[in-house]
Amino acid sequence: MKANKKGKLKAQDLNLLFSSLQKAGFDLIGPKLTDNCITYDHIQTAQDLPQGWSDFQEKGTYRLKKRNDNAYFGYNIGNRSFKEFLFVAKEKSYQISKQGDVQTLSIDNIKKMAFIGVRSCELHAIHIQDKVFIQGQYINEHYKQRRQKAFIVALNCHTAANTCFCVSMNTGPEVTLAYDLNLSEIINENEHYFILEAGSIKGQEIFDTLPMDELTPNEFDAKKNMLAHTASHMGRKMNTLNIKEKLYAAHDSDHWNEVAQRCINCANCTLACPTCFCSREEVVSDLAKQNATHIKHWDTCFSQEYSAVHQTPVRSSAQSRYRQWITHKLASWYDQFDTSGCVGCGRCITWCPVGIDITEEYTALTRGDE
Ligand code: SF4
Ligand code: SF4
Repeated sequence: MKANKKGKLKAQDLNLLFSSLQKAGFDLIGPKLTDNCITYDHIQTAQDLPQGWSDFQEKGTYRLKKRNDNAYFGYNIGNRSFKEFLFVAKEKSYQISKQGDVQTLSIDNIKKMAFIGVRSCELHAIHIQDKVFIQGQYINEHYKQRRQKAFIVALNCHTAANTCFCVSMNTGPEVTLAYDLNLSEIINENEHYFILEAGSIKGQEIFDTLPMDELTPNEFDAKKNMLAHTASHMGRKMNTLNIKEKLYAAHDSDHWNEVAQRCINCANCTLACPTCFCSREEVVSDLAKQNATHIKHWDTCFSQEYSAVHQTPVRSSAQSRYRQWITHKLASWYDQFDTSGCVGCGRCITWCPVGIDITEEYTALTRGDE
């Protein structure tokens, strides 16, 4: 059943939302100022949020900067996505004994997590990973358990970075996919409050514990104005018309060589991307050789080893690896999963150390088709 309660939560009461979630047994994962970056981490209270902080982002550039207000969510997304908490970078998958008994490592200890401040692009990325890990032929049980236990506190975006292009990818800035609770942070000269909307029974149960005020029509309309402002401040855009066909047609473009001269194959773009899902398995035997443990690690199409067949890389050149990445993201992902693999979050632009920009490369590759 879809719940649809909405109300006004004073900014000073935000912490009550967090304590209600904690009382319901959730670990809180939300934005936090860590290592000079606003990133997702375990948080305890609203004091852990990056209140009054924002950031400047550009190709290969990330800088913190102060805001001139006390917004809790006035930053743009940082280097880590919620992928790290659902599809963990390194974990044991299963163990097999010498006798052939297979033991899937326990998922009983997987904790309930509440994700705080899930922007629309992040929510789209989670839904894309759902298609990969739990809606296909092969199920990733660890992902499935974490996802089923996750509580989503979504966030309508009030700040766009120079590197954002969710409007082009039709993934934001307004939250349109399923959530438990949805926050819109409103700051004007008179007050600071949140519009809080419940989107599920679980969300409604938490909503009912909070000291909510009625919203006036004007207060609710502030959300529309905020979203229109964010949508009009996207720093990037991408023309997605016939995107798949255009990229397939660019297969033999000379531009791949040009990108390869700049790309250092560091894989930052795939690690920061909230939808990339490649992984490999390492097998470790115990000293008595009784059990072999399979350990999953994130991997990347930017590594030669990842494309090795019979110990020989299929994609041995840098240009072939970049072509694989962008063509999969923006074209063949549609064939595999009926969606783009890109949500326009801009992370691969900010965190590429040499400033390679997916929107610019796509435009250069398909320029003749515009
Ligand atoms: S390809 Fe880049 S912009 Fe698109 S979702 Fe991944 S990190 Fe974000
Ligand atoms: S495109 Fe940039 S981030 Fe990605 S592998 Fe190349 S240099 Fe690294």
